[in-house]
Amino acid sequence: MSQPRCVDDRITLKYGAGGGAMRALIEQIFAPGFGAVPGGVGLAEMDDGAAIPIGDRWLVITTDAHVVQPVTFPGGDIGRLAVCGTVNDLAMMGATEPLALTCAAILEDGFPRAELERIWASIRLACDEAGTTIVTGDTKVMRHGELDRIVLTTTGVGLTSRVVTDRGLAPGDVILVTGTMGDHGLAILATRTELALDTTLASDTAPINGLVRRALAAGGPGVVAMKDPTRGGLASALHEMADKSGVGIVLDERAVPIRDEARAIGELLGIDPLVVANEGKAVIGVRREVAGAVLEALRAHPLGRAAAIVGACVAERPGSVIVDTGFGRRLLVEAEGELQPRIC
Ligand code: MG
Repeated sequence: MSQPRCVDDRITLKYGAGGGAMRALIEQIFAPGFGAVPGGVGLAEMDDGAAIPIGDRWLVITTDAHVVQPVTFPGGDIGRLAVCGTVNDLAMMGATEPLALTCAAILEDGFPRAELERIWASIRLACDEAGTTIVTGDTKVMRHGELDRIVLTTTGVGLTSRVVTDRGLAPGDVILVTGTMGDHGLAILATRTELALDTTLASDTAPINGLVRRALAAGGPGVVAMKDPTRGGLASALHEMADKSGVGIVLDERAVPIRDEARAIGELLGIDPLVVANEGKAVIGVRREVAGAVLEALRAHPLGRAAAIVGACVAERPGSVIVDTGFGRRLLVEAEGELQPRIC
């Protein structure tokens, strides 16, 4: 990224937070030695998934591990999260019709059967919503204390005739978000606090492939970049898109949709909703001439009612995200995220 950093001798929680530390870990340890995918997208691009050219289309593939704690939370559970996370990463690459998913479950000795059945019912429901299915998997059980309850790993595949990356932005492009920011992360954090928060805030975990399909249909080739603002929230997503595209992004703070409940919890915990994970949202970069049509298409979908235009790309300060507060401008800083482990 902009400021290369050296990976520490020990891998600590910050390396799983989705920010600069994690990107450094991938760049320095995981990605070296794996060649580029000619005509496609490989590991080095560190996008939402890979794209492998097959004939006149691309096979999109993505994989996620899920360690969320608590396993069940307002608005979802680890099963729903696993399906949606994978379906949404496929959609961010342009593959909005997921062909199939795999799911590996690693369980701790003693895990309740009834809870497992509930999680799998949730997985089935989320697959139905997304129009996909689980076709293969794996099961492992570890001794009590060797694992905290359950880990799910999902892989998804889909085909697309056009790959959308997270690096296609140019000066003048417009940035949209498909809905309110920070719901998932703040709903999870609210369950963990000892302040006994009385809140109605729920996670936004949802498969947004249908919503993204509408945006792509409305914007056509004018949709030039997409990313789901998961770990690190909108701040990390915008930083990565700005850095990879070589543009600056000016974010209009007052235009970013944030629920009152999310704002209240964020203020109580001292956490900016802009640095917190979402699990049913997308950041979409479009050419200015299609912005209105894409916004209209998003708002016509049940999962896009609160969609908004939140910013624009500029040639100045490439790699930076500048927040326009209405009173002045400041740089939006990416959270390291050590304070929010196991959010997804
Ligand atoms: Mg992603």
